[in-house]
Amino acid sequence: MLLKNASAQQDSVAYPWPEGKRAAISLSFDDARESQVIVGTKLLDQYGIKATFYVVPSTMQRQLAGWKAAVASGHEIGNHSLTHPCMENFDWSRSNALENYSLKTMKKNIQECTKKIEELLGVTPEVFAYPCGQKYIGRGSKTKSYVPLVSKMFVSRLARRSSQQPTLLQFCPAHRGGDGWQKL
Ligand SMILES: [Zn+2]
Repeated sequence: MLLKNASAQQDSVAYPWPEGKRAAISLSFDDARESQVIVGTKLLDQYGIKATFYVVPSTMQRQLAGWKAAVASGHEIGNHSLTHPCMENFDWSRSNALENYSLKTMKKNIQECTKKIEELLGVTPEVFAYPCGQKYIGRGSKTKSYVPLVSKMFVSRLARRSSQQPTLLQFCPAHRGGDGWQKL
C-alpha cells in the first residue's frame, strides 16, 4: 500500500486532483493467490475499497468464482503474465526463466495472459505488473529490457524496487518523478 501526501509533492508536476482531494491510495496485489478472493476482496468490499489485482490465469482459475465476484464488485484486474517468468537464479523459475525468453516470446506470453483473462472474466487488463519486478529477457550480451514492449501494450506498469520489497506504483499523473514512485 502506498500513501502519498500532496504536501510532500509540491515540486511535482501540478495536477488537479478530482473533487479537490489531496491524496490517493493505490492498493494492488499480485499472483492471484487464493486468499485474495477468499478473504481479501470481501474485506475490501466491506469498507467500499477497490484494489487492482495482477493475476496469473492458471492460479486465478483455482478460485474463478471468487475472481468473477471481484470483477463484479468493481476491482480491477491487471496482467501479471501467463506463466510468471523470473530470473533463472530462482530454483522454481529455472524452467520458465526470463533468460530464455526473446521479446517475441515475452510479447506472446503477455498477450496470451490478456486473452485468458478476457475469456475467463470478460475484462481486458489495461495495466501490467512485472513478475518478480524483473524487466529484462535474454542473457549476457543478449539481455534486453522488455519495458518498451510493455509500455506499448499497457497504460500503466508496476515494478518493485527489488524482488523482496513491496510493490510500488510506478506511474501516477500527479506524481511523475516523485520519490517513492518508480517510473518505467
Ligand atoms: Zn508475482
